[in-house]
Amino acid sequence: DACLGNDDAVIATNDDASTCKRCAVDLGYWSDPYIHYFVKSTDRKAPEINRGYYARTIAIQSLVEKFIDITSGKCQIVNIGAGFDTLYWRLKDSGRVVKEFYELDFPSVTSRKCLYIQRSKPLLQGISHEDHDIKLNRNNLHAYNYKLIGVDLRNLKEVEEKLKESDIEFQIPTIFLAECVLVYMNITKSSQLLRWITQSFKSVLFINYEMVNLHDRFGEVMLNNLRCRGCDLQGAETCRDLNTQETRFTKEGWAGAEASDMLSIWGRLPPEEISRVTQIEMLDEQELLLQLFSHYCITLAWNDSRWAEVQL
Ligand code: SAM
Repeated sequence: DACLGNDDAVIATNDDASTCKRCAVDLGYWSDPYIHYFVKSTDRKAPEINRGYYARTIAIQSLVEKFIDITSGKCQIVNIGAGFDTLYWRLKDSGRVVKEFYELDFPSVTSRKCLYIQRSKPLLQGISHEDHDIKLNRNNLHAYNYKLIGVDLRNLKEVEEKLKESDIEFQIPTIFLAECVLVYMNITKSSQLLRWITQSFKSVLFINYEMVNLHDRFGEVMLNNLRCRGCDLQGAETCRDLNTQETRFTKEGWAGAEASDMLSIWGRLPPEEISRVTQIEMLDEQELLLQLFSHYCITLAWNDSRWAEVQL
């Protein structure tokens, strides 16, 4: 299994993602009043990186919002490998409240997130509820409908125990969200996790954002760039193409799965938004953006045919 060195490198990918988001937010790609509580400052990233993060953030938030609207908020969200994601607070600002919102990550990541939340009033306010105390220890935070849990996703027994302790419900509509997470896990472990989710939860939409087409000629180049701080992409084989991204779910018992690369997702974003963000920065080489977009995808998988309709 992964040695500690690799785990540390995987943990560091959260800092990379967070700084990239802060950079794009500072430039005005999208609004996130919370990211700067998690990332103090950042250097400027390349325009195609900023656009990539924009497309991903907007697409995922929009899918999640559709699910919440269909279920009138009677649902839960489990963000696995959540890092410093601010989705809970952004959804709340958009008027969307769910029954429970869970965030899981390595204890060393959740302990830092706990600390940042404690230190910032707006983050604390967002999770506060008048008749509910916030319970905190080093790696875990339990608020009214927000739970931050330190756990290794490869340890299914512990994942299950900790979710149960946090009042997870297995019967209500649930989103599992994974953004650039499964690829860092060994395939046996991620497959077990996916199988456990579909077998344990009655009605799930899984949203997976990840690399794809890693193995073509350009792919090799991209793969080198993507090896963040030397950590292995242990799950790269499932990112071979859109088909392998889908079958990794159906093989584990999911009813259906549909993967779309970010080129196609980009084309489905509102035209006025595209024209707004393309004016933020000049792109010298359109080709770079197209390459980047063709190497990432969003896969939607469900075990309840009701969720097949959730699309961009
Ligand atoms: N999802 C966040 C985002 O999109 O900004 C963070 C993405 S970051 C690239 C990958 C995250 O997955 C890291 O926070 C890392 O700690 C977490 N992760 C990877 N493997 C994990 C595991 N076995 N257990 C818990 N967390 C894990």
